[in-house]
Amino acid sequence: MLGDDTTTEKRLRLLQAEFTQHEKTGPGDGRSATLVHGAPPVDLGTLDYMRSAVAEVVTHTQAVAPNAGPAPADQADVYRWSRESTEHLDIGPQLVREAIIYRQGLEHALAMGDTDAVRTHPCPGCGCWGLYWRAAAKRAVCVNRRCTDKDGVASTWTLARIAQQYIAAQESASRRAT
Ligand SMILES: [Zn+2]
Repeated sequence: MLGDDTTTEKRLRLLQAEFTQHEKTGPGDGRSATLVHGAPPVDLGTLDYMRSAVAEVVTHTQAVAPNAGPAPADQADVYRWSRESTEHLDIGPQLVREAIIYRQGLEHALAMGDTDAVRTHPCPGCGCWGLYWRAAAKRAVCVNRRCTDKDGVASTWTLARIAQQYIAAQESASRRAT
């Protein structure tokens, strides 16, 4: 099950395609482009965003697998390269890798204006399906009024936490299945 999911790669390719097209045919001053109908425009930070996401995966991979060699030329191949370079490692490091890739998939979705990507996960605190994305805080917020901290403030979660939970659940489901 580890490494079967190519959602993150596909989303990065969408971002790449949008940015490339935008560079060639971008309207006006070419500083923004709309990805999905009704979605917020992609700003010039998209290129930097993609670079830093890929750099994170490369740095992590080369740290845990020093023999990984150079990163692939095509940014979107970095996920496949990371998996191939670390597939010999124990389950622990592989789960860490998958959580990073999954989190980046969520980040790519949000970069494209797709906040529904967050809603499809249960709250790590109460298990309800009431998470929504609060962009300013860069955290997912739980709508369950009983899901709060001791001061009564609604529970909020980072994408990293949601990704860890998702990957852990996948892993335990696959262990039960075998
Ligand atoms: Zn909750």
